[in-house]
Amino acid sequence: MSSTPSLALRGAIIVSQDEQRRVLRGDVLVRDGKIAAVAPKVEEKAEVEMDARDFLLTPGFINLHTHVANTLLKGVADDMDFPQFLETMFSFDAKRTEVDIEAGALLGISEMLLGGTTSFLDMYYGMDAVARACETMGMRGFLGWAVLDPAFTTQKGVPLQNAEAFMGRWKHHDLVHPLPAPQGVYVVNEENWLGARDLAERHKTIVHYHLSETLQEVEGHVSKSGLRPTEWLDKIGFLGPHQVAAHSVWQKNNEIEMMGRHGTAVAHCPSSNMKLASGGGGLAPVVELREKKVAVGLGTDSSTSSNSLSMLRQMQLAGLAHKHARHDPKCLPAGALLDMATVEGARALGMEGQLGVIAPGARADLALFELSHPSLAPVTLDKAIPNLVYSANEGAVHTVLVGGRVVVKDHRLVSGSAEQLRQIALDPPLR
Ligand SMILES: [Zn+2]
Repeated sequence: MSSTPSLALRGAIIVSQDEQRRVLRGDVLVRDGKIAAVAPKVEEKAEVEMDARDFLLTPGFINLHTHVANTLLKGVADDMDFPQFLETMFSFDAKRTEVDIEAGALLGISEMLLGGTTSFLDMYYGMDAVARACETMGMRGFLGWAVLDPAFTTQKGVPLQNAEAFMGRWKHHDLVHPLPAPQGVYVVNEENWLGARDLAERHKTIVHYHLSETLQEVEGHVSKSGLRPTEWLDKIGFLGPHQVAAHSVWQKNNEIEMMGRHGTAVAHCPSSNMKLASGGGGLAPVVELREKKVAVGLGTDSSTSSNSLSMLRQMQLAGLAHKHARHDPKCLPAGALLDMATVEGARALGMEGQLGVIAPGARADLALFELSHPSLAPVTLDKAIPNLVYSANEGAVHTVLVGGRVVVKDHRLVSGSAEQLRQIALDPPLR
């Protein structure tokens, strides 16, 4: 039984993201943390009744790739090339403790919740601290423990074993979904890739990893193995479904075809790729991946590479960048961009029908945007999605629910401790 009271949201403009992609004026009933009914008029009364006529109601966004603990390090690695960026990050990684990891996670989760994001997929270590931050804030976290070869890690102990122990500690939690996360081909050997995959299969979780982010990574792997990273992961028998590959910037047609054939999902991170200039003149082959039915979601990556955890910004940037680069304003329309931030992210996580959608049986992870906010207004049913995707900013986010629990109300966090967040912001550890 959920401890949250039943809730009826009455008269909102609902962007359902259901199979018909309905946008309607109507009511949503939430019971036991899940959507119980969606209709123009729901007769059943709830314990809490809310007049939502002034709001646009959407599924909470899914941030499909980040390193939330790095929110504490915002601004330390700007305007650097990738080797310099990595060197800076490794120098901080070596110093980190669970105290500052938790502080970074609390800060990043706060930013995400206030921006309408209700789930995130993360990769880091010391993840018990991130899991605790999810509990404190009422955030849904898919938390990947970073797996890399012992020779390359700053973790104490063996990373793959650390991942398994972490998964054992959190596997039955309502909000926390633990999983293994191989960092990338440059620091993970064949045995550890396959070990991570085996671990995920035994625990019935997904695997999350970086893939073909930079040209340097691809060229380095070709000179080491004779194969491009995606080709090599296919050859060693790693590539498969229930996996989310972050970036996938440098993929050729045969690699795109492999992703489609294996049902491997992608987290596209436009702001990180553009700020680090990872793509050069190009971008991830999002349109081609989608044509192969690959689930492509959107990720912010960490606050050290893209600085903002805004999913509104990711939708806007993804749309603008691909239209511009391809000379094709129709290649990723607003509906496709919203799909990437909601239903496609859910499909990538293996949570289709449970997250990213307002339909009976789905978790009540919801965001309410003010219809009168200048960045969103004026809103009609047919302009709800384009205005949300192309012009809305975080100032329009009024209320957010995760699993039926109100975590943001009247633009303010109601979960967590305001004083603790103030302390972290004004006197951050590790700076
Ligand atoms: Zn990353």
